[in-house]
Formats: sequence, C-alpha cells, structure tokens
Amino acid sequence: MNTKISNELYDKAQQFMPGGVNSPVRACKNVGRIPMFVDHANGDKIYDVDGNEYIDYVCSWGPNILGHSRQEVIKAVTATCEKGLTFGACHSGEIELAELIKKHFPSMELLRLVNSGTEAVMSAIRAARGYTKRDKILKFEGCYHGHSDGLLVKAGSGLLTNSIPDSSGVPKGYTENTLLAKYNDENFVEELFGKFGDDIACVIVEPCAANMGVVPPKENFLQFLRNITNKYNSLLIFDEVITGFRLSIGGAQKYYGITPDLTALGKIVGGGMPLAVYGGKSEIMQCVAPLGSVYQAGTLSGNPVAVSAGTATLKILESTPDLYTVLEQKSAKLQSSMQNIGLNVNRVGSILTPFFTDISVTDYNTAKTSNTAEYAKYYSYLLDNGVYTAPSQFEAMFVSYAHSDEDIEKTCSIISRYGKVIE
Ligand SMILES: *Cc1c(COP(=O)(O)O)cnc(C)c1O
Repeated sequence: MNTKISNELYDKAQQFMPGGVNSPVRACKNVGRIPMFVDHANGDKIYDVDGNEYIDYVCSWGPNILGHSRQEVIKAVTATCEKGLTFGACHSGEIELAELIKKHFPSMELLRLVNSGTEAVMSAIRAARGYTKRDKILKFEGCYHGHSDGLLVKAGSGLLTNSIPDSSGVPKGYTENTLLAKYNDENFVEELFGKFGDDIACVIVEPCAANMGVVPPKENFLQFLRNITNKYNSLLIFDEVITGFRLSIGGAQKYYGITPDLTALGKIVGGGMPLAVYGGKSEIMQCVAPLGSVYQAGTLSGNPVAVSAGTATLKILESTPDLYTVLEQKSAKLQSSMQNIGLNVNRVGSILTPFFTDISVTDYNTAKTSNTAEYAKYYSYLLDNGVYTAPSQFEAMFVSYAHSDEDIEKTCSIISRYGKVIE
C-alpha cells in the first residue's frame, strides 16, 4: 500500500500542530502507524490522499451512523449555508431540533445546544452542582466524559492507551471533588455514598461504556445507580454522547429503560457537525442562565449549519424503521467473525470491541488486561487489507447503516483470514 502523500503531510503537519494532529488518538501512536490523511469519504468508504480505499468502521468516532456524505444531510447543510453561516441570534431551526430531541429523549424536558460533548458534560455537571448546591461528583474508572479539568481522572479513551493517569496542567484542586468508582461495582459506589452521600451532586456515567473499549453495564447496574442517587437526593447524569441515537433512537435510556435526571448528547446528534446537547428535568434546567444562576453560554451554540445537519440526520433515523434491526444484524455478523478467530468481543447494538485477553472485560482493570501489542498487529493487518478500525484498543468499532452486506461479508472474510495468519 502506497502512503507517500500521507507520510509527507504528516511530516509537515508536525511543524504546525502538536504531534501533527488536532486530537491525540489520531496520531496512531498506540498502533505504531503513520496517520492516514483523508481526502474524502462516501457511504461506508473512506479514501486517503494516496487514493487508497478503506471500509470505515471509525465513522468519525460515532457521528456517522448513516455513513458518510448522506445526500439529504449534505443538501440540508448547503441550503442552510446559503442563508448565512452564523447569526449569534435565535432561529427557528433550534426549536425544530430541540423538539425532535425531546420527542425521543422525553427525560430532556428542557435542553441546551452546545458545540462539543466536552462542553455538554461540563455544563450538565455545573447544572447538577448548581441545583443540588453540592460539590462532589462521582465518576467511573475508564469512562470518558470529555477533556474538562475535573473529569480527567482515569478517563479512558486516548488517556487509557497513553497511560496518562491524569493530565498535567490540571491543578489538584480541580479534581479533589471527583470521586472515582469502578464500573459495574455496586459495593464500591455504595461505600462512597456511605462516606460522602450528602455531598455528592451527581453520578456521571456512560450507560454503556465505550471509551475503555465497549463495556456493557451489568444487569441492574444502572437501576442500582438510579436507586442510590434517588436515596441520597443526588442526580444521575447519563453521558450519552456515544450511545444517544446509537443504541436506539431514544439512546441507552430507552434501550435499558432507566431515566436519568440529566443527559449529555453529542456525536450523532450533530450529524457530522460540531454540535452537542445537554438537558433534563425542567426543575434542574431552570437553574441555567438566563432563568437561573448557573452560567453557560456560547457564541456558536445553536449554529444554524450544525443544527440543520443534526435535524436532517435525526429525521432520517426516524423515518427508517428497520435501521436499528439492520445495524444489530450487521454488527452481530462482525462479532461472530471475530469470535471465530478467538477474540473476546464485547458488543451492544452497533458498537463493539475485540479484546486480546481471556478475561471477561467488565471494567477498567479487566479492559487493561488486553494485549495492546496484539491489538496493534490486528489493526495493521486490517488496515493493510482495506479495513479501517479504531487506532487504539480502548475505543469502539462503529457500524453504520451505509455498511453494505457485501462490505460486511468482505470484512468478515478478511477477519477470518487473520485467524489463519496467527495460527
Ligand atoms: C466523545 C465523547 C465525549 C466528548 O465529546 P467531544 O465532542 O469529543 O468533546 C464525551 N463523552 C463521551 C462518552 C464521548 O464518547
């Protein structure tokens, strides 16, 4: 495979951006490769600047549930662009999107549009603290909630592979109110509530973890979190930046049947543009300015172009009744092909991760038993055969509605031949 132009661009990029990238995992350090530079993408395929074609299972880390460049979305965006890129003022598109979101996430009685998942989670936590007048928050090891200061504690994703237990540049004071618990470990949470219960503003959780690789919640774990937060008058926040519109049209809360107090959405909700959302119970969201004293604002929040991409995407999800069944079937096929060569695969709906360990992966510590050198080998093999997956063990593989049966079959057959290679 020729990657000459990508290699040249990577050299050049390093003169201008730290590590040549605008987000660390893209540097492909964990898999020992040079990053590809993308030229364009369409449907389930992504094309690099050297003209190589790949079946894409990164899907921009989640947003592209419909695949790349879906025409209805592109048309909606270009039509909106013609009317102006940003106004910093109210427009009817915001209402249309908010209404669509609330229809599928009825727990989000009032919501705010923001620009990134990081911002959505940060703001939801601020609202939770403002509402409860408590300072402490409880998060889980291996759950990633964006890169805001207080949440960079055993945060999974890029931090997990790079083995940065914490980020430098974050003063100790910023994380001293962040309590750490183990995912799927009820006793641990119970103990923390026993000690600090009356000071805990909220529990923030990925209802299905996907940033230490995919780690589903154990039966009753989410119900347990709902009960214990109720008991202590603490709030439950679901970070559904990945799972929202992914596990079902109503996200993980509909999929698992548990209603949080606040929800953060991102990725899919922006249809490929920088847009995210936080919201929840009216009573809590009424604390947010201008109604209340919790300040949160944004120059580009509710940006018309981003809003039109989100709205167009959600409308397609709504009007495609077989979408989640089809995603389930395609993803199950990929899972089987990996299991057939002996990989330990966690999957929920259309997100899945193969682990290179015999231990059942249920939390951060068990995820870390995976042999990342083996993952890197597997990644390289797939890439060299035209299959693009996450360049890190601790991420999910994303399946889209644009993945054709033919390309799923092709991927499965490539995976099955890896079995032969490693035997
Ligand atoms: C991606 C992600 C975020 C951060 O979103 P950004 O848009 O990258 O800031 C937060 N939470 C979860 C669960 C995510 O997967």
